[in-house]
Amino acid sequence: MGSRMANEISKTDLDLDREPIALGEPAPRCSLQARVVWGERVVTIGGDAPVRVQSMTNTDTEDVIGTAIQVKELAIAGSELVRITVNTPEAAAAVPAIREQLDRMGIDVPLVGDFHYNGHRLLTDFPEMAQALSKYRINPGNVGKGDKKDRQFAMMVEAAVKHDKAIRIGVNWGSLDQELLARLMDENQRRARPWEARQVMYEALIQSVLESAAAAVELGMNPAQIIPSCKVSGVQDLIAVYRALRPRCDYPLHLGLTEAGMGTKGTVASAAALSVLLQQGIGDTIRVSLTPQPGEARIQEVVVALEILQALGLRSFVPSVTACPGCGRTTSTTFQELAKQIDDFLRAQMPVWRVRYPGVETMKVAVMGCIVNGPGESKHADIGISLPGTGEAPAAPVFIDGEKALTLRGEGIATEFQAIVEQYIERRYGAAAAHA
Ligand code: SF4
Repeated sequence: MGSRMANEISKTDLDLDREPIALGEPAPRCSLQARVVWGERVVTIGGDAPVRVQSMTNTDTEDVIGTAIQVKELAIAGSELVRITVNTPEAAAAVPAIREQLDRMGIDVPLVGDFHYNGHRLLTDFPEMAQALSKYRINPGNVGKGDKKDRQFAMMVEAAVKHDKAIRIGVNWGSLDQELLARLMDENQRRARPWEARQVMYEALIQSVLESAAAAVELGMNPAQIIPSCKVSGVQDLIAVYRALRPRCDYPLHLGLTEAGMGTKGTVASAAALSVLLQQGIGDTIRVSLTPQPGEARIQEVVVALEILQALGLRSFVPSVTACPGCGRTTSTTFQELAKQIDDFLRAQMPVWRVRYPGVETMKVAVMGCIVNGPGESKHADIGISLPGTGEAPAAPVFIDGEKALTLRGEGIATEFQAIVEQYIERRYGAAAAHA
């Protein structure tokens, strides 16, 4: 008898002593925990906190109402921190009014101030702004040059210490500290085997953020209140930098691909980079830096961030709709329309349901196109419908908690199914709220 092929499975391979395949799940995260505080309220980042979602406005901060409205939209979409640029004295003067406007609207989200070049001066000259913000973003590459650099960086950190604020030390390869990079390039020339230029750039990003964080600690910052980031625009570069950064410190990390781009490209690049790192337990708060397409809402970057975390099983924000892609077995668009209708309906209801039906965000709904995978996938969902494919009898069985519950027929399938989903949510999650 010839030797067994490596990929052959015989009965003896199916032994009962074999170790089970490891469950698919992200590696645990391990970091200090920052507290981003405003008034009596707090958002934690790192430690045992869930991975937080943040975003940034693109309004003129001097426009108090316009900025407050966009912060509100981002917060309602699910952003747990919102960053605003603070670039001029007028913008700095507007910040307390934006905070007050948000408080009047009941928008419970902390504001992060984004500072470059003149942050030291603005934080000193506008103490009410320094107090109204909950966190400062400091870019060590943009705080000044030569002997001014350390002094101006110190002024910003001292403002954070004085007002008891968290800081993000946000290094970006587009504004990397050129003096540090030049020093590391010189050192590299003295190596017996010089590194590639990209590797020196990785090291410069990491040293810039860690040296700045160490300087902030020297100035009195609580290390747990320092949140570093090293943003680059290449997926592989981002993965390489953060994988090297994580073991070199225990600060909570802000993660994001900078200048990810527009539309599908920006979405896929961000999802690819962030997913690899989050799966490895790296990243405590994320931002997806999408360029909005003309006419596209700013909240798209929040929607994508939530989808990344939900797809990885890290968090649940909205019931998930499983829908098949469709194929030649279902040539009508009925199931596509129903899947979209149900998805839109669930998302639209979430601001109210989140409060009224705790746990509804973990619900799974299946909308399937034919009998091949329809009943099976529907049974795995909390509630699912298997629509008739081409040539199948015009009947749509509905499965609830894995059991076939009823069959829908006729023109009103979409409306009836939506009503069944609503009843299911009320029965299952409304009861949970009543007993809470
Ligand atoms: S469930 Fe049916 S219609 Fe949908 S992709 Fe599979 S075979 Fe095609």
